[in-house]
Amino acid sequence: MPEENVHPGDLDDAEKLYQLGLSYLYGTDAPKDYAKAAECFKASCAKGYMPSRRELGIMYASGQGVEPDMQKAVQYLGDAADSLDPSALYHLGLMYEVGTGVPKDMQKAVRMLAYAAEMGFPGADVDAERVDAILTEQRNRNLRARPLLKLQISDVDVEAACCKPMLDALLAQDIVFIDSFKGPALLGEDKDGMDAVLDRCPFCGAFVQIVPRDKKYRSDKRINPQVGMT
Ligand SMILES: [Zn+2]
Repeated sequence: MPEENVHPGDLDDAEKLYQLGLSYLYGTDAPKDYAKAAECFKASCAKGYMPSRRELGIMYASGQGVEPDMQKAVQYLGDAADSLDPSALYHLGLMYEVGTGVPKDMQKAVRMLAYAAEMGFPGADVDAERVDAILTEQRNRNLRARPLLKLQISDVDVEAACCKPMLDALLAQDIVFIDSFKGPALLGEDKDGMDAVLDRCPFCGAFVQIVPRDKKYRSDKRINPQVGMT
């Protein structure tokens, strides 16, 4: 009978095990013992309690109380982040920033950190701003280095400017990249000073083109400048 497979007490137990794990982890109601904390979280995980998955993920990443295992860390933190656990989003965000256990991806990092910050995870706002500042600086450096020919955006940022006034507007953030409900776009002001999505440059009239992230420019040095101009 299916009813026999349902154990209403399981989640209660899972939560109690989680709380017990926390008290071992922080040494609050019990002497600090990382190995015991990990055992509690594992038992709680087995009963399907998501916050324990997050704690266990952090322990696998740091090697506290368990053998370090980045694959398990990423898997457990990823599961918890998928269920919008702010702490999991925060920790996974930091791992994406550095490339620990996952391919380094600063854009992904800043999105996760900003999400954690929005959900009020302590300190996430500072880290989100820090990573965002690094990305903005990189973006501005790229824009200055790339030829002023075409107005191009990728799915995550502006890739190239069409003319000097547009470059200046982008650097001053008078015109900004947004990920709108219709997809990536540039947001600026129309003639009446209202926020408006721009489909072309207000200065030179160049149309906004969508291009793959960084791809077009990585091989710049190998392209004949004359060919690159077309
Ligand atoms: Zn322009």
